[in-house]
Amino acid sequence: MNILLNTFDTKFNTAPFESIKNKDYKPAILKLIEEAKKDIDAIVNNTAVPKFENTIEALEFSGQQLERVTSIFFNLNSAETNDEIQKIAQDISPILTEFGNDITLNQALFTKVKTVFDSKDSLDLTTEQNTLLDKKYKSFSRNGANLSEDKKLKLRAIDKQLASLKLKFGENLLAETNAFEMLLTKEEEVSGLPEGAKEAAKQLAESKDKDGWLITLDYPSYIPFMTYADRRDLREKLAKASGAKGFKNDALDNQSNVLDIARLRFERANLLGYKTHSHFVLEERMAETPEKVNSFLQDLLVKAKPAAEREFAELENFAKELDTIDQLEKWDSAYYSEKLKQKLFNLDDEQLKPYFKLENVIDGAFQVATKLFGLQFKKIDTIDKYHEDVMTYEVLDENNDLVSIFYADFFPRAGKRNGAWMTSYKPQFIKDGINERPHISNVCNFTKPTKSKPSLLTFNEVTTLFHEFGHGLHGMLANTTYPSLSGTSVFWDFVELPSQVLENWCYEKEALELFAKHYETGEVIPMDLVAKIKESATFQEGMQTLRQLSFGLLDMSWHGINPSDITDVKTHEYKTFEDTNLYPDVKENCMSTAFAHIFQGGYSSGYYSYKWAEVLDADAFDYFKEEGIFNKDVAKKFKDNVLSQGGTENPMILYKRFRGQEPKPEALLKRAGLIK
Ligand SMILES: [Zn+2]
Repeated sequence: MNILLNTFDTKFNTAPFESIKNKDYKPAILKLIEEAKKDIDAIVNNTAVPKFENTIEALEFSGQQLERVTSIFFNLNSAETNDEIQKIAQDISPILTEFGNDITLNQALFTKVKTVFDSKDSLDLTTEQNTLLDKKYKSFSRNGANLSEDKKLKLRAIDKQLASLKLKFGENLLAETNAFEMLLTKEEEVSGLPEGAKEAAKQLAESKDKDGWLITLDYPSYIPFMTYADRRDLREKLAKASGAKGFKNDALDNQSNVLDIARLRFERANLLGYKTHSHFVLEERMAETPEKVNSFLQDLLVKAKPAAEREFAELENFAKELDTIDQLEKWDSAYYSEKLKQKLFNLDDEQLKPYFKLENVIDGAFQVATKLFGLQFKKIDTIDKYHEDVMTYEVLDENNDLVSIFYADFFPRAGKRNGAWMTSYKPQFIKDGINERPHISNVCNFTKPTKSKPSLLTFNEVTTLFHEFGHGLHGMLANTTYPSLSGTSVFWDFVELPSQVLENWCYEKEALELFAKHYETGEVIPMDLVAKIKESATFQEGMQTLRQLSFGLLDMSWHGINPSDITDVKTHEYKTFEDTNLYPDVKENCMSTAFAHIFQGGYSSGYYSYKWAEVLDADAFDYFKEEGIFNKDVAKKFKDNVLSQGGTENPMILYKRFRGQEPKPEALLKRAGLIK
């Protein structure tokens, strides 16, 4: 009897972690795929006229147990994995991809979906149903379902080419990163490096049977060296090596890959009826069009540039005073910025950590949620856990009704990947009149307490906890009918609003007083320290903004136009950077050939969303600040129009309903200290 094959007979219907055996997964998933296929066949073979219920809704609720089981499996592959689970993941991933393709390429199914879509005006659908219909239709049409057979073949050929080019781009980048080593043998060559970084460099050298210190282009090695190493010539050497990745006209060069990827994406978009690749991507984003993204970036650029130039001049003066540097170069940036930051703020983690005992911070996040949304968090020990470190909570509303189950998994261990994230073990949805509540999880990697020492968080970890908890609230407070529109299933440039907005409470006196208490004395964190945290958080914000904008503009410059006019990667890039450059150009370096986010990963026409999300969260928090950071009415508006609504409507409509107007960048610029 495979426990994964049936609805779980557990309290709150939680995942029966302690009864699942690894060997259950693969057979269960294979069996559930077969069942899901039968669900699909039933839709296709239905002889009744295709309607919303028998087609779109039926498709939405098909293969539910399969999704439940795969989400448990892949969540555990991130949070508590081992060789056996990884092996199973390798086995089943291609099978699941193929199953997904079988659906989107199922022409008979599409014909039914299209029939419903074409008659939608006569169907009297709710807003949420309309959104679902649109989403389902586009999951086919955006994959070419409307194309003629020869164009379909062409699309598949382009997809295949793109996949292999992206792979090649990544392989070249990795090979370039691994090919470079800088072996230092004299103590003065590592002067300035903190002990930890020196130790790591020494160990790396030893691991390769070398004497001295080995520096590489891997971030954990590269970043500390650029930030602390006193030897300017060595920083230059390292920076130039890093900047030349994929740009040396050799076997690992990425220039033609960049040009080909941009050209094929453009062709693909044209084939599907879109003007450019950006038009294709942005159709499913809050920003909607490349014109809007470009004017968003340009507007911020104009407003941030004066501050950036001021900060650059300040940094230049500082470097001149300190080391008689005449022309600040790219490899001086991190080094002098760090020194200037120390001089201005002299703030270090150790000063702050005693005020941020983990238990207090968790309690603080819960208290903020209580004050804003009336939620109560009750620890429960009667449901299964996948590891003893996981803490489990029943989340209740003011009427003591169940809102969600919440798993908090905060400590690192061998089977957990790095970083911090939110995920769910069961989605929220309404079916047969029952509002199924979600099971949400936050996973982080904070230092584990010992018998003698509690877990004390750095300030960065505090904001990380609040960030993930914000995603968590988006999941917990979900209140939609359809699971694929629920909680965090929103457009990509909207998903960071709930998480980033919650970080703002970490900087507010009224919130910090609730939980930032010294773990030994109970003293509340001194407000001059808080002021310093706030101020240092906006250190060089103008320059940082300019840098982010330059990446966003570069991304759009490759994808928002017809790229066939671009013949030379570096020339194109140089022109694009003209308005954002503060440092002299390094002619043997190129950004595009190593810009993995957009040419290898999934960020093409999406880099702007980092800044977009910041504008949203600052603008939203400004509303709270105007009315009081614990104002119940504003919180209710946020919950009713944003957190509970998931992706049921266009995010701009949801946002305007909450805020009363479209988001404006002024709050961000003010928070960042760029305007008064
Ligand atoms: Zn996030």
